Amino acid sequence: MRETGYAMRLLLVEDDPMIGNGLQQGLRHEGYTVDWVQEGSMAVLALETNPYSLLLLDLGLPRLDGMQVLKALRQRDQALSVIIITARDSLPDRLAGLDNGADDYLMKPFAIEELVARIRAVSRRHAGHARTQLSAGPLRLDPARHLLWLRNMLVVVSAKEFAILQELMRESGTVISREQLEERLYGWGEEVGSNAVEVHIHNLRKKLGSEVIRTVRGVGYRIGDPEAA
Ligand code: CA
Repeated sequence: MRETGYAMRLLLVEDDPMIGNGLQQGLRHEGYTVDWVQEGSMAVLALETNPYSLLLLDLGLPRLDGMQVLKALRQRDQALSVIIITARDSLPDRLAGLDNGADDYLMKPFAIEELVARIRAVSRRHAGHARTQLSAGPLRLDPARHLLWLRNMLVVVSAKEFAILQELMRESGTVISREQLEERLYGWGEEVGSNAVEVHIHNLRKKLGSEVIRTVRGVGYRIGDPEAA
């Protein structure tokens, strides 16, 4: 399995079709879920309606430029990591981006490996602000290092399986529906089989035992004991 720094859904905002397509393919290959839009106004709309953990933002964009997208985002106080990917290498632009709350910068052209390294670093910093590890019952999960333990034994799971566990463990004790999991795990263009989540859960139960993930009929899935009312 490829080690992704984080199981997460990214929004890529890039108006150049060649660069956008290349980045989307490259990042998907690395195990990330990537939605791609080509206009600033589309980016704002996508951010309002989808749960992303990281934004990859070009600055020179039609409709609304990247700086305006960033301002709109920060005004709504979204706790979202932002990496700016831009051809504008002038110092004033970089400083303005930092003032507006970007986490990092990458100047085009760059190698996909460089971008992945930056994404991992930014994700680690964000994970460091919060709790680094999640635990629920016999499970312990380290999002930044992409590691999972069952009763202190390392378990190898796929990127999607890891993402499902991470979502369930983040809200341990509450029921999460299949639709909520799908929304967080799959991007727009991605083929989602009608039973994709069920298949992942089935495989996880084979690896972790049947008791760890509970099915709440007609509602969804839960890890850990129900929250006390
Ligand atoms: Ca551009």
